[in-house]
Amino acid sequence: MAELLRKNGYAYAADQHSADVIIVNTCGFIEPARQEALDLLKEIASEKHTSQCLIAAGCLTQRESEWVAKQVPGVNAMLGTRRWMDILSVVKKLDEPAQTNIRFINTSPLTMEAEDIPRVVHYGGYAYLKIADGCDRRCAFCAIPIIKGPQVSRRIENILHDVSRLADLKIQELILIAQDLTSYGHDMGMKDGLPDLLIEIMKTAPHIPWVRLLYTYPGQISSRLIDMMAEQPRLLPYLDIPLQHAHPDVLRRMYRPANMDHVRDTIQEMRARVPNLAIRSTFIVGFPGESDTEFRNLLDFVAEVQFDRVGIFPYYHEKGTAAYQLQDDVSPELKEERIQQLVALQEGISEQKNRQFIGKKMEVIVDGVGDGMTICRSYRDAPEIDGMVMVEDELEMGKITVVEITAALVHDLIAKKI
Ligand code: SF4
Repeated sequence: MAELLRKNGYAYAADQHSADVIIVNTCGFIEPARQEALDLLKEIASEKHTSQCLIAAGCLTQRESEWVAKQVPGVNAMLGTRRWMDILSVVKKLDEPAQTNIRFINTSPLTMEAEDIPRVVHYGGYAYLKIADGCDRRCAFCAIPIIKGPQVSRRIENILHDVSRLADLKIQELILIAQDLTSYGHDMGMKDGLPDLLIEIMKTAPHIPWVRLLYTYPGQISSRLIDMMAEQPRLLPYLDIPLQHAHPDVLRRMYRPANMDHVRDTIQEMRARVPNLAIRSTFIVGFPGESDTEFRNLLDFVAEVQFDRVGIFPYYHEKGTAAYQLQDDVSPELKEERIQQLVALQEGISEQKNRQFIGKKMEVIVDGVGDGMTICRSYRDAPEIDGMVMVEDELEMGKITVVEITAALVHDLIAKKI
């Protein structure tokens, strides 16, 4: 949206108070995210002067525009998720006299491209590149398909165009994102389209040293993808496979793949073929009906598999999802207690895994430098969600360099320059 506005003659304001138009891109898939977005909209609405226009865009407005309008009457216009490029029309309409309460909430499938606008977000040495959006799956707890609609993949040539631009910017780490990378291209009739796309990306940008994949669906990681990870050093040996639970009955209630033998076999095979593979997973605790035995089974599974990283979330009872029909019967206290048990277990595993790197040399990408310190990440760390490698020295921002690991914490590593 920012790029589209910039190309059409709008410029960034120095701050909120000097802006003519204020756009809040909201999140809306779970209650705490909705509340955070609402609080921010209320705060801005109460501070803005009458000539300023406040636009609420994104997932919350797509999902609950009526509710947002009632809660924050100061919002002048709303834009959903399906056609973010309508932001130009929204802003132009706001310029017309007596225009308020404009709504561009569309329920058609997502539109992915708009007049040569790159789908990238770029920070320092790394960039996120969106290759698809939306989701065809119907996990019982998840509101994303309601908000985003079915998956729409971007055409390979458009993705490669963005990859070339990022290569020209000397990006060091390219992070491919989608709700489910392993489904890339299904909607365009491709089977196992992700490896095909990766081959083209590697050819288009031979000088981007790291390519990372975020969010792969269990059971859909193909042998070709694992082969590429084993053979192509630029494709980082890192997989984020959100499993959500380990007990087959809970997984069935979640409408998720429930064959845990297959999950175990796949992880074993991946580790055999890619020995330094870092695996991250995510689990939901307190799904409706989760018994002590089912939770114990999840703990046992996490202890058995020894993931490098684990994200743990409580179940949120979301209107419109299939699970909303079930009773949200695990109390908040029990959810919290179970989270703490799982966190304690995983912290022990993570620290032990981190200790194995002491004394080793590792390639890291530099994310931040200042006051004699450098914050980096290794191939095991996706930005913001995983750990860091901290170096007591100043290294060059945005570059990939080799450091020696000197100490290990639960999530992070300490290193020295070599
Ligand atoms: S695959 Fe992910 S985005 Fe799609 S419905 Fe399931 S949890 Fe939601």
